[in-house]
Amino acid sequence: TKWVYSFGDGKAEGKSEMRNLLGGKGANLAEMANLGLPVPPGFTLPTEVCTYYYAHGETYPAELKGDVEAALAKVGALTGKTFGDPANPLLVSVRSGARASMPGMMDTVLNLGLNDETVEAVAKLANDRRFAFDSYRRFITMYSDVVLGVDHHHFEEILEHYKSQHGHTLDTDLSADDWAKLVVEYKAKVQQELGKPFPQDPQDQLWGAIGAVFGSWMNQRAITYRRLHSIPESWGTAVNVQAMVFGNMGETSATGVAFTRNPSTGEKALYGEFLVNAQGEDVVAGIRTPQDLTERARKAAGSDKPSMESALPEAFKEFERISNALETHYRDMQDLEFTVEKGKLWMLQTRSGKRTAKASLRIAVELANEGLISQEEAVGRVDPASLDQLLHPAIDPKAERKVVATGLPASPGAAAGSIVFSADEAETLKAQGTKVILVRVETSPEDIHGMHAAEGILTSRGGMTSHAAVVARGMGKPCVSGAGALRIDYNAQTLTVNGQTFKKGDILTIDGSTGQVLAGLVPMQQPELSGEFATLMGWADKVRRLKIRANAETPADARMARSFGAEGIGLSRTEHMFFDAGRILAVREMILSDDEAGRRAALAKLLPMQRDDFVELFEIMKGLPVTIRLLDPPLHEFLPHTDAEVADVAKSLGVDVERIERRQKELHEVNPMLGFRGCRIAIAFPEIAEMQARAIFEAAVIAAKKTGEAVVPEVMVPLIATKAEFDIVNAVIQKAAKAVEEETGAKLTFQVGTMIELPRAALRAKEIAETAEFFSFGTNDLTQTCYGVSRDDAGTFLGPYVQKGIIEVDPFVSIDVDGVGELVKIGVERGRQSRPNIKLGICGEHGGDPASVAFCDQVGLDYVSCSPFRVPIARLAAAQAAL
Ligand code: ADP
Ligand code: MG
Ligand code: MG
Repeated sequence: TKWVYSFGDGKAEGKSEMRNLLGGKGANLAEMANLGLPVPPGFTLPTEVCTYYYAHGETYPAELKGDVEAALAKVGALTGKTFGDPANPLLVSVRSGARASMPGMMDTVLNLGLNDETVEAVAKLANDRRFAFDSYRRFITMYSDVVLGVDHHHFEEILEHYKSQHGHTLDTDLSADDWAKLVVEYKAKVQQELGKPFPQDPQDQLWGAIGAVFGSWMNQRAITYRRLHSIPESWGTAVNVQAMVFGNMGETSATGVAFTRNPSTGEKALYGEFLVNAQGEDVVAGIRTPQDLTERARKAAGSDKPSMESALPEAFKEFERISNALETHYRDMQDLEFTVEKGKLWMLQTRSGKRTAKASLRIAVELANEGLISQEEAVGRVDPASLDQLLHPAIDPKAERKVVATGLPASPGAAAGSIVFSADEAETLKAQGTKVILVRVETSPEDIHGMHAAEGILTSRGGMTSHAAVVARGMGKPCVSGAGALRIDYNAQTLTVNGQTFKKGDILTIDGSTGQVLAGLVPMQQPELSGEFATLMGWADKVRRLKIRANAETPADARMARSFGAEGIGLSRTEHMFFDAGRILAVREMILSDDEAGRRAALAKLLPMQRDDFVELFEIMKGLPVTIRLLDPPLHEFLPHTDAEVADVAKSLGVDVERIERRQKELHEVNPMLGFRGCRIAIAFPEIAEMQARAIFEAAVIAAKKTGEAVVPEVMVPLIATKAEFDIVNAVIQKAAKAVEEETGAKLTFQVGTMIELPRAALRAKEIAETAEFFSFGTNDLTQTCYGVSRDDAGTFLGPYVQKGIIEVDPFVSIDVDGVGELVKIGVERGRQSRPNIKLGICGEHGGDPASVAFCDQVGLDYVSCSPFRVPIARLAAAQAAL
């Protein structure tokens, strides 16, 4: 095994592809050296040394010492110095670097090799005593902090005390003698804290630092970070040892960081900061205010401190040239670290830069347009989930935020409006043209119309999978849930938080991306759906195989789905239409009826309303497929709950309060999720399915006439476990179709299919597909029934399950490929056995989750269906799955 990889002087033993071995930093230092860029020479101990270290009781391979000595000698030859030489010492930095950039690992130690003797030599050689002692005090601070465990605040206190005693404010005010005195104090402090002196032998210093890097792989911070980001412990970290270059040698020296493009906007322009006469992390540490790199940025910021472009024009030009070269070489925006020593530029790091979602999109599209990457690569560069941030209005980053409370970021985007405390009020005010935020302790299905009317939803109770959160995400409305500090008083129509009271009509802004609740109207930025977004989506559409449909039932949602590029509706939940103000009474009348005649009378009132809904939906979708699911939820969800509501309904329907209460008791279920719902309702009350089927078919005939486009409805039966169930309901639907054909003289084209959302249905898919013409996997219910977990009750234990590593991700967020996915695969295979061309899709929250979309592509589904706002995410995820 090779234990040491050298780099420097225009060549290297490593290269950027060797990231697993050399870590990100080491691999890129080698690559830059190979490119002939000015990189201080050095060497990398690969991750294999780390693996060896832990496999052998924290010891090193026998050859390592000699190999390091040889590598150090090479560095010395290139720099004309010798490590540990009292007259002409080589100083180095020791830098950790794992495969994935990992906070929690050891910090870098600079200026290693300095001691009481070598510091004098450095002073003499540089003819700069101040520089030498400034470096030494930095070294003692860093080494003590990261290697010896003597916290840096000790040294900062000593420095502050010294400065105030001597009337200095800035570090740059201190002279060589000041630093020399401080070095004495620093060393005394180390002696005091550790009971032994600061190590003077450069070899001890070096191996101390190397050991600290490997040791830090197993510190608590690193372990936690690895767990949170699923980084395997077996990867290990590399160590880089590199000759020092000095940014602290006076006015022609500097240190800085830069991005080749603006990481927040994506604009193609060098972006960064630097500090004259400084070292290492001074720029980010905020000790002095850094200066802009370019004149353009300096002017834009209105700064009077000179830019690098004007202060160090030669080094700047060189840096500009190199940053362009690196971007072209890596074919991506780079994050760079550099130092200028007496006018000469040195490169110390390059890597792909972190960026916002907005910048990511712009950079990908522009790199493709510049010919640096292909359109397919651009499609692969953007994280689909990050699009969520771009599709909603966002709080202007420059705006002032008066945070009154913080809850969970339940559904992204920002919204502002007058607060209201009831769904009805929201609807009324919206009709008058007022924007509202619906504030509830928590929401229930009866609040849907108010949620639709509101700009955003705020609740004081409930988690990320609460009703408010799930429905809001489905609607693409901003939502902050579970803001526990809020006291909501429905009677007084007030909201109190930390002694501040907001009345009905007061304006609040919510930020569903951060969970913040803000006072007043905060300025926002509207999403930009044209430009780069549209371009990238177009490229994605060329690549993907999966079709993308939307879950939608209201005209507004259907239009939005179309505008986001949906290719049909995969799930239209008819029950959402039942809650609308105009119809809930007829629905309740139907449920309260004791006999079929009574139910039919109520259903007759509902029929024209449902038909109108479907006509509008078909018109908007203009011939694209529309899947309509028959009534699914338990009937008691439609009954009134509070005494006041019951009294109200009793009066409106002219029935006794007792009658409603009796029906409530009759319909009460211990476990409604597994109760009287889905096709079970259609089997007990076929007249309901008959009315719905009739409404669908009549609407199809009307819409086809109106638009001139053939309408092919897909009627979907929910929650079947057996073929017999499906056949009974199918017969009702077929009969309704015949009746409509006879009455209208039109010829209908339609399909009848089923949800596969119970394990039994997946297992018996072969026989079910004999009569069912399509399957839509309802992976929400399938997850509940496969896992035996109720989604509404999962909050208390699923979180800890994820934390303990029992499950990797919440199966309601991302499909459980091993279990639920297996059932989907079985359903696909067996369904195709009896109907090879059966149309297959999924609906539910998973349809908008990129990992789940990839799974759907892999098992060969025809489409995924998701909420309208997630359609672009699904389009991009489907494209990436196909790449
Ligand atoms: P991080 O991973 O925290 O960025 P680095 O190893 O990149 O840590 O080091 C941080 C900073 O230290 C660098 O940006 C650079 O300014 C400085 N530095 C590291 N090595 C050297 C060196 N050989 N010469 C001069 N400065 C260095
Ligand atoms: Mg760095
Ligand atoms: Mg279901």
